[in-house]
Amino acid sequence: MKEKIWLSTPTMHGEEMDFVREAYETNWMSTVGENINEVEKLVCEKVGCKYAVGLSAGTAALHMAVKLAGVKPGDKVFCSDMTFAATVNPVVYEGGVPVFIDTEYDTWNMDPAALEKAFEIYPDVKLVVYAHLYGTPAKIDEITKICKKHGAMIIEDAAESLGASYKGKQTGDFGNFNAISFNGNKIITGSSGGMLLTDCKESADKARKWSTQSRENAPWYQHEEIGYNYRMSNVIAGVVRGQFPHLEEHIAKKKEIYMRYKEGFEGLPVSMNPYDEKNSEPNFWLSCMIIDEEALHIVTPEKIRLALETENIESRPIWKPMHMQPVYSGNDYIMVNGDNVGEDIFKRGLCLPSDVKMTAEQQKEVISIIKGLF
Ligand SMILES: *Cc1c(COP(=O)(O)O)cnc(C)c1O
Repeated sequence: MKEKIWLSTPTMHGEEMDFVREAYETNWMSTVGENINEVEKLVCEKVGCKYAVGLSAGTAALHMAVKLAGVKPGDKVFCSDMTFAATVNPVVYEGGVPVFIDTEYDTWNMDPAALEKAFEIYPDVKLVVYAHLYGTPAKIDEITKICKKHGAMIIEDAAESLGASYKGKQTGDFGNFNAISFNGNKIITGSSGGMLLTDCKESADKARKWSTQSRENAPWYQHEEIGYNYRMSNVIAGVVRGQFPHLEEHIAKKKEIYMRYKEGFEGLPVSMNPYDEKNSEPNFWLSCMIIDEEALHIVTPEKIRLALETENIESRPIWKPMHMQPVYSGNDYIMVNGDNVGEDIFKRGLCLPSDVKMTAEQQKEVISIIKGLF
């Protein structure tokens, strides 16, 4: 069977091993060490935030963010609807109740109009959690303005968007408490890992303490708060440290992939996952296509997915919206004019192979298979 073409896999460069070996040889094989300190510094410099706390996963970072925002049992929280479940699950860890906000067509992220409507229905909500799906910045100004007006805090889930910018500023630097991820399929990886980003020193210190079992400053194990074992490993941090200098190179490759799809699909009744070309620069983490409604009778995303699978090529449906997930069937979902944009994009869209190592030849094959179906 010919070599598999993947959706998105880790791309290593060699320096990762040097930092991992250094950790090994100096015996900093735990959750403290030079690699963690360096990676936290690198992220602050890149994103522009004041503090970064290295954690075991992006999900852990989101959990710490939700705790820092002070979510209490029963509190409603407005959340992106079309996203990965890890954006919203941490709200539930703290007993909060996600209310899902519909998606807009311009960037496939939280719809500001639906958010505004949600505040009319639930004026007391004090927290909004939104993601930059597939590395495309959301309508940040509009969302921020609405949150300010209603006195709500913001958690930005930048797990998929490290390196993406909006009006010249990096994603992960717009909310009160923000999260990035170094999961294996992200734009750069540590094999796992994540970080909490904030400009508030007190909050960063709290997250550091909570993530290391909430030990108080005493010779014995003294605890005044509930703790977690969420700190990043110095070995993982070594991998991230070696990846970091290659972030821009990965983004450039991903952008090339996106542009080749865009060009390759010209003339077909499809378009690519869109972005605000004037105000934002995505990291192009995943390229996605969406089929025109009128062409769905010719070919569906599932038909394309299966045709690619036959040729050992991986693709994936659009992240299934949270309001369609059985586990969240009891949660409220706010949309404008009954539009249900999320469900529509889910029905018509598909995530395409976007691996940094995919060759132009391989991508040509993907495009030609898809073209052949229309
Ligand atoms: C990957 C991802 C996360 C979770 O990050 P992990 O490091 O895998 O825990 C959260 N939100 C989104 C949108 C993601 O894509």
